[in-house]
Amino acid sequence: MQYNRTGRSGLLLPQISLGLWHNFGSVDDFATAEGIVKTAFNKGITHFDLANNYGPLPGSAETNFGKILQRNFSGNRRDELVISTKAGYKMWEGPYGDWGSRKYLIASLNQSLQRMGLEYVDIFYSHRFDPNTPLEETMQALDFAVRSGKALYAGISNYDPEQTRRAVSILNDLGTPCLIHQVKYSLFVREPENGLLDVLDEAGVGCIAFSPLAQGLLSDKYLNGIPEHSRAAKESGHLQPEEITMDKLAKIRALGAVAKGRNQSLAQLAIAWLLKDTRVTSVLVGASSEAQLLANLQALDNTLFTADELAEIEHILR
Ligand code: NDP
Repeated sequence: MQYNRTGRSGLLLPQISLGLWHNFGSVDDFATAEGIVKTAFNKGITHFDLANNYGPLPGSAETNFGKILQRNFSGNRRDELVISTKAGYKMWEGPYGDWGSRKYLIASLNQSLQRMGLEYVDIFYSHRFDPNTPLEETMQALDFAVRSGKALYAGISNYDPEQTRRAVSILNDLGTPCLIHQVKYSLFVREPENGLLDVLDEAGVGCIAFSPLAQGLLSDKYLNGIPEHSRAAKESGHLQPEEITMDKLAKIRALGAVAKGRNQSLAQLAIAWLLKDTRVTSVLVGASSEAQLLANLQALDNTLFTADELAEIEHILR
């Protein structure tokens, strides 16, 4: 595993990190979840990403991860891990369990720490921009989380370029620099190229790309329908069957041919393609099995692209 510097900070993150959004909840098989985390760590994945609401049920991914930590990473082994969590989407009923108030963020962080059995997380994120809360308040909550020792670094997620610029500036003024932005970025989702990556680069903020496989679409999985137990087939899965359009399938087939020419699977190509941009600190993958994760890690064997390959990819996606 190669470790990249996160923006202009001192923190190194693995090129591939593991997210626990799906497959780690109370509806999932615990032994499989534990196996995935152990395999990840054994392969050099030191960074594990959570959020208050990951499950289902909401909170259960953190509870399960806490159990996995207790069983496998006790004592000083905690110091070998970078663990993140977030608050920003609805977590509990009433006016204090959603969005970006200081009240919600700090209460939620306390709950996350309790569920995971941790004294601190490494990164605490504002999960989304809140148009109805002064940005200063949300950023002060992140600053407080760091100053109180409940988090080591502050991050933001799903902020647009202008919101990011403002958040970074406020955090700088507070003396708690923004470490990283967690952004949806893949061959199928190119918005970060319209300004956000430049803002992050200029500000020295890291970038971690989530849903790099567009939730599994960027693989050969859906070429012949929706397999049983796939994310698109699951009631709790966020990938909707209607997102698997004929147009996307045609692109997936054509991209698969490019991948084949590189001796890669399409999933491996999709991960490698993100890592070719040095502004991307880490690619945040999900996995429903150890085998899937191990296969995806082989993306690291070939992250260089020829100009012809890149042009062909752009032609397919146009
Ligand atoms: P991916 O795009 O990597 O999708 C992962 C899913 O794709 C797997 O669970 C599996 O689904 C399928 N898959 C993985 N590898 C393969 C393969 N080789 N062949 C076929 N299918 C494969 O990422 P996620 O959407 O899971 O997101 C990753 C992480 O990003 C999350 O866990 C979370 O930490 C973070 N995230 C952050 C968000 C934010 O707002 N900040 C929002 C969303 C995610 P299956 O086998 O079940 O079909």
